[in-house]
Amino acid sequence: MQTAQRVISDYRRRRLIVCILFTTLVFVLTLTIKFITERQLNEQRLLHFSERAVSTVETLLAPFDMLFQDALPLMVLPCENVQRTLREHTARVPTVRSISLVKNGIIYCSSVFGSTDYNIQTMHPRLPTPTPLLLLSIDRLINKGSPILISWRPVPTHSNDGVIQVINLSMLAGFIQYTDVPWIDKTILNIADSHFEYTHGIVNTIEVSADQVRQDIFSEHYPFSITTVGPSATILALNNLPSQLPLAIVLSLLAGTCAWFMTAKRMSFFHEIHMGLAAREFEVYCQPLIHADSGECVGIELLLRWHNPRQGNISPDGFIPLAEQLNLIVPLTCFVLRETVKYLDQLPKMNGFHISLNVAARHFKNGAIIEDLSRYWFPAHPQQILILELTERDALPQVSHQVVRDLHHSGVRLAIDDFGTGHSSLAYLETLSPDILKIDKSFTAAIGTDAVNSKVTDMIIALGHRLNIELIAEGVETPEQADFLRKQGVSLLQGYLYAKPMPLTQFPYWLENHDMVISRQKTADIT
Ligand code: C2E
Ligand code: CA
Ligand code: CA
Repeated sequence: MQTAQRVISDYRRRRLIVCILFTTLVFVLTLTIKFITERQLNEQRLLHFSERAVSTVETLLAPFDMLFQDALPLMVLPCENVQRTLREHTARVPTVRSISLVKNGIIYCSSVFGSTDYNIQTMHPRLPTPTPLLLLSIDRLINKGSPILISWRPVPTHSNDGVIQVINLSMLAGFIQYTDVPWIDKTILNIADSHFEYTHGIVNTIEVSADQVRQDIFSEHYPFSITTVGPSATILALNNLPSQLPLAIVLSLLAGTCAWFMTAKRMSFFHEIHMGLAAREFEVYCQPLIHADSGECVGIELLLRWHNPRQGNISPDGFIPLAEQLNLIVPLTCFVLRETVKYLDQLPKMNGFHISLNVAARHFKNGAIIEDLSRYWFPAHPQQILILELTERDALPQVSHQVVRDLHHSGVRLAIDDFGTGHSSLAYLETLSPDILKIDKSFTAAIGTDAVNSKVTDMIIALGHRLNIELIAEGVETPEQADFLRKQGVSLLQGYLYAKPMPLTQFPYWLENHDMVISRQKTADIT
C-alpha cells in the first residue's frame, strides 16, 4: 500500500519530469525554429543579392542600345567629323570607357584615339561576328591589362562593320560586390565562357570548395549570368545558433515555469481523488462490531479503500488525512453514504444493528453533515442505527452544539474515535456529548503489557462507565484482549480476531457463516 508521502512525492516527481520535458521541448523547438528561419533568411538574402546584381548589370548594359543607335548614323561621316560626338556620348555614360567605329574589320575611329586603323581582332580574336556580342576581355589599348567588357554591335547588313563599346569592369564590380556580408564569399560575372571575379580579374574557372555552395542567376535580357559562391545556408544558420541560446533559455524557462503552475492542479492529489471518484476506484469496506458477551455481530464500521490503478492500492492512512487537508473528505464521506444506502437491503435490519461511519469534524461545519444525511441517508428510512465516528484530526471548534443536538434528535449516535490519542479528547466529551467512546487500537494492543498505555486503557474504560458512555474497543487481535475487555465491561469489540475489513458486498456471506458458528457454540454451551 502506498503512503501519503510516497504518493505526494510521486506526484511531485512526475510533475517535475513533465515540466523538465516541456522546458527541453521549448528549448529545442526555439532553436529549431530559429535555425529554420535563419536558413530560409540566408537563402532569401543570397537570392535577393544575386537578383540585384543581375539587375545592376542589366542597368549598366542598357545604355549600349541607345549609344549604338546614336553612333550608327555617324559611320557615314569621316572620323574627324564624329570623334567629338563620340567623346560626348562616352562622357554621357560614366561606365563606358570608349566607343569605336569599325569598318571592314578595322577600328577606324575611336572616342579615345580619334582616327586609328587597328584590326578589330587586336581587341578580341572572336570579333567581328554577324550578331551582337558581349565579351569579357583584357584591355590591350588604353589601360593595358585591366578587365573590360566589350559590346560588339554589327551593322545589320555588313557584319564586318559595327560599333564597339568598352565598359570599365572595375567600376561595374563596385556595383555588384558586397564584401562585408558573411553569406557571400565571391560574386562572378559570367559572359560566354569567361568569368570576371572582383579582385581576381578574369578567371578561367569558378572554384567552389566542399563547404561552399554556388548559385547561378541568368539575365533574361542579356547573355550573362551572375554566380555567387558562399557558405551553405545551413552552415551559416548553424554557426548563428549560439547567439540564439539566451532567447531559447529564457523562453524555455518561462514555459517550464508556466507548466509548473499549470500542472499544479491537474497533476495533484486533488485531481487524482476527483478522478478516482469519477472512475469509481473507491470501494466501501466494512469491519464487524462484535457484542462482547454474545459474540454476535451487532454492527459494522464502514472503511474506505482506494484501488488506484496508477499508484496501486492507497491506504486510508495515506489518503484520508490528505483528503481532509484538500477539502475533499466531504465528497468521499458522501460517496460512502451513497454506496452504503444502495446496499442497505443486504444488511441486517434487526433492532439496533449499527452502521458506523467515519466523519471528519469539518463535515459538521454549518450543519453540512445534516444536509448530506438528509440527502442520502434519511430518505432511505434505514432501520439500522447510524453512528458517526469523529476523530480528533480536525479542530474541535468546528463542531457546533446545535448540530450535535439535531443529530441526537434524528437518532444518530455519536462516537469519539481513537479516544485518548488526540490532545483534546476530554474537551470533545463536553462538546459532543458522545454516546460511544472508541478505544484506539494502540490501547487495546497495550492490554496485558507493562506499557503506560495499559493504564490509560483502564482509565478510559473507567471514564466511560463513570459517564455512562458505551465503549467499543478496536484492534482486538487476541482472545486475551477480548477476555480482558469483556470483563471490564466493554460492550463492543472490533478487530482482526473476528474479521479483517472486507468489501461491503462480502459482509452478508461472512455474517451467515459467523451466525452459524455462534449458534453452534451456543448449542455446545447448553449441552
Ligand atoms: P479507524 O477509524 O481507527 O479505523 C480502524 C483501523 O484499524 C482500520 O484501518 C482497520 O482496518 C484497522 N484495524 C481494525 N482491526 C484491527 C486489528 O485488529 N489490528 C490492526 N492492527 N488494525 C486493525 P484502515 O481501514 O486502514 O483505516 C485507517 C483509518 O482511516 C481509519 O482509522 C479512519 O480514521 C480512516 N478512515 C478509513 N475509512 C474512512 C472513511 O470512510 N472516512 C474517514 N473520514 N476516515 C476513514
Ligand atoms: Ca473509525
Ligand atoms: Ca483507531
